[in-house]
Amino acid sequence: NRYRSLHVRVAPLGSYYVLILCDDFTEARRVEEIRRDFVANVSHELKTPVGAISLLSEAIAGSPDDADAVRRFSGKIAQESSRLTALVQEIIDLSRLQDTAGADDEPVDARDVMSEAAARCRFAADGKDVRLRIEPGDTYCVRGSRELLITAVKNLIDNAVAYSPEHTVVDLWMTGDGDTVRLSVTDQGIGLADEETERIFERFYRVDTARSRSTGGTGLGLSIVKHVAMSHGGSVRVKSAPGAGSTFTLVLPLDAGASPAPDDASNDV
Ligand code: ADP
Repeated sequence: NRYRSLHVRVAPLGSYYVLILCDDFTEARRVEEIRRDFVANVSHELKTPVGAISLLSEAIAGSPDDADAVRRFSGKIAQESSRLTALVQEIIDLSRLQDTAGADDEPVDARDVMSEAAARCRFAADGKDVRLRIEPGDTYCVRGSRELLITAVKNLIDNAVAYSPEHTVVDLWMTGDGDTVRLSVTDQGIGLADEETERIFERFYRVDTARSRSTGGTGLGLSIVKHVAMSHGGSVRVKSAPGAGSTFTLVLPLDAGASPAPDDASNDV
């Protein structure tokens, strides 16, 4: 069992030393429970859109001459399908994360991560006329997996766009702080109450299921960000208030062996 841990202790007993071998099943049980919960949640989350698609197709088949109903139901099928696609992609991201956590350990340019993540969100941002503005400045070198870090920042930007009104701005900025760098994403969106910010990093947690569903949300995005942050020795924070926008910040340890790269004055993407 790869999750079983064996503790070895040497303890004095009179004039002898005894070797104590202790098998730790507590951690194994905890990991097994998390895995079981995850599979149950994933099954539920996959069944919901599949069930909806099936019902909607039946509805269309039942009233093929009602052009208005056919248009409405087809639109909903397209919406549920894109949710399904997003969910499958995030499950793939999560499993990739679990397989490769700690495997990639290369120097990564934090500004490059931010620009690439923004480029991958541009289509969604353009669709809402949300401007992605990258604040120019120094870059910082971190260590880990470039792809996973891009996935994490992309999830933050995707959310910033999804939970913002049209024609707003999302600011992407970076600050060095001692031996860490902070990659922040600030939106002018709906914001979050304190009790919500405590739970949003849990898998499948969504503040408002109906609203999140209409944005194509899966409830997995932020738990992926948290996993990526933790597997890179960092953390993720949020500062937000209802109606006043949010700032999500990924804090990562700097690569101790690297010096900052020259200034790259990139702006909007
Ligand atoms: P989802 O796929 O539903 O967006 P996430 O794990 O990415 O799932 O986020 C969990 C919940 O946190 C979302 O359903 C949403 O309610 C809230 N949330 C995330 N980012 C933001 C944001 N920038 N502004 C407001 N609410 C947010």
